[in-house]
Amino acid sequence: MRIITGLARVLIVLLFACLSRECIAADGARQRSILVLEEADFRSPFYSEIFAGIRAAAKQNGHPHTVIYGESLDLARFPGPDYEESLVGHLKTKYAQRPIDVIVSIGVASAKFLQKRKQDIWPAAPVVYGFVPDLPEVSALFLPNTTAVFSRVRPLHLLTAARAIVPNLTRVVLVGDAWKNPLVYGHWKQDFAAAMPDIEVTDLSDTVLREVRKQVATLPDRSAILTSAIYSDGEGTYYSPAAALARIAESANRPVIITSDTFLGKSGVGGFLLLPDIIGREAGDVAMRILNGEAPSSIASFNGDNVKPIFDWRELKRWNVDEASLPPGSEVRFRELTFWEQHYWHVTIVVGVMLTQALMITFLLRERRLRFLAEVEARQRMSELAHMNRRATAGEMSASIAHELNQPLAAILLNAETAAQMLQGPAPDLVEVGDMLEHIRRDDHRASEVLGRLRMFLKRDPTERRDIDLNATVDEVFRFLSVQALTHDVGLATEPSSAGIRVKADRVQLQQVILNLVVNGMDAVAHLPADRRRVVGRTSLTEGNLALVSITDSGDGILAEKVTEIFKPFFTTKAQGMGIGLSIARTIIEAHGGRIWAENAPSGGAVFHISLPLVAPG
Ligand code: ADP
Repeated sequence: MRIITGLARVLIVLLFACLSRECIAADGARQRSILVLEEADFRSPFYSEIFAGIRAAAKQNGHPHTVIYGESLDLARFPGPDYEESLVGHLKTKYAQRPIDVIVSIGVASAKFLQKRKQDIWPAAPVVYGFVPDLPEVSALFLPNTTAVFSRVRPLHLLTAARAIVPNLTRVVLVGDAWKNPLVYGHWKQDFAAAMPDIEVTDLSDTVLREVRKQVATLPDRSAILTSAIYSDGEGTYYSPAAALARIAESANRPVIITSDTFLGKSGVGGFLLLPDIIGREAGDVAMRILNGEAPSSIASFNGDNVKPIFDWRELKRWNVDEASLPPGSEVRFRELTFWEQHYWHVTIVVGVMLTQALMITFLLRERRLRFLAEVEARQRMSELAHMNRRATAGEMSASIAHELNQPLAAILLNAETAAQMLQGPAPDLVEVGDMLEHIRRDDHRASEVLGRLRMFLKRDPTERRDIDLNATVDEVFRFLSVQALTHDVGLATEPSSAGIRVKADRVQLQQVILNLVVNGMDAVAHLPADRRRVVGRTSLTEGNLALVSITDSGDGILAEKVTEIFKPFFTTKAQGMGIGLSIARTIIEAHGGRIWAENAPSGGAVFHISLPLVAPG
């Protein structure tokens, strides 16, 4: 019992210890922790991007229970042993209960701090050094159980960028703290002397900001300003490097070469720029390998791929720099797009739509034109056919026309002969002769009326629609055919509607249709005994307020299956038939907005109906 109590107590103590150190995650797995020690303030854009890069690497490759702590040592702004001492005390207390599995140290100042004080705070933790140059002086700072990813803007990089921007460069002006720090820019004097023995160097790395601004405002033509990070104006005021550089760039009369991606667009023309996001990712990846079990000693330090020549397009324009003269592989940012580049898609879409529209319009116009031509041709054909049809009908009627003409001509002859005889007598009765002449004139008038009707029937009239009286029109046709009907012993009759019916139609065309139907009716009754030959024309108004003409005959009617076929062109059952009468009739009626159809009358015989719209009132 006592033993159990003792065990339980130990377990409880262990549990509390673990919980208080956050070493157990919610699902029971042990947490792994990274501490990022930044030499500056990681709220500044450059260091915050490094931190974001480390976080991204941890997210991508890390253990699900990886926790990242971050410390900004801010050593550039807070130098001196007292701050360092208090920092050590603070970190010791802060991390006493937090085991650190790997430290990612960012920057040379942080590396120096660890070299001096790591033993006091995190004696066992392995370290990945990031954002440090591959200089022997820096490698000498590294402790055992460490590895590094190097990043370095070499002084020669700055010189190369300056020569690309100012082709005939003779002078460089050095601005910023790093130039006087051999742990950052190394031994640039030797490098410059080797690369460009004649280059004149004005070193302002120790000059206060106020003075720097003054001097860079009046530089000679063939010069450039090579900068590194600046944290202070040298007179007690601290700046973020981007803000300090912007102040220099705004007063400079010559191109300013910069060293970080985070400065571009705010100051300077560009150069070989540090890419903080990549610096963070590279260091973070190595830290993850250590967390995943690799020994730091087995991971060789290497040069990261974290510096790239990048330039500001607007500054290139300002200094008249041809992009072709930039270092190979350069990237140009902030390019102002031409109108065409900016609106490429809009313009393409609009032009595309307009072209499609134009094509469609052209296509439709062409179609319309073709249809119009086809219609014109069809109308012409129809008119020719109609004319043929009329001539054929007139031919058939020639006997009755001759008969109709015969009467007045015979009367004229008789009257003329009688009058001639009377005039040869001793006392001719001039009054009677006058009467006879009057008869001759009237008969002549009758004959010319017959001929006039025939001429009108045969003439090839252009379509001319008028407001016409339907009853009168039907009556005229029936009268026109009366002689022929008489010759063939066919009884013709009309039953006009009591109300007047007015339609808008071409009178000649409408007469032709009715005439065709009546002639067909007369044909249909021809074989019947004379007393049963009958064709009747009726007019009426339908319930739907349409004008209706119906031609009924007493023939044998139409075979039920042929009632629509008979309207097709060239359908005929007659030995001498052309088969175009009904198809012309349908074309004419449909052109008038009407309808024509045939049916069989209950009493036998066929009925042809024509319906036409009435003249609009008013
Ligand atoms: P065609 O009179 O030259 O034959 P149509 O187009 O006028 O040409 O008539 C076509 C056919 O319709 C006729 O051959 C006939 O068979 C039929 N048809 C027309 N009218 C009548 C009718 N009243 N009764 C019976 N059949 C008819």
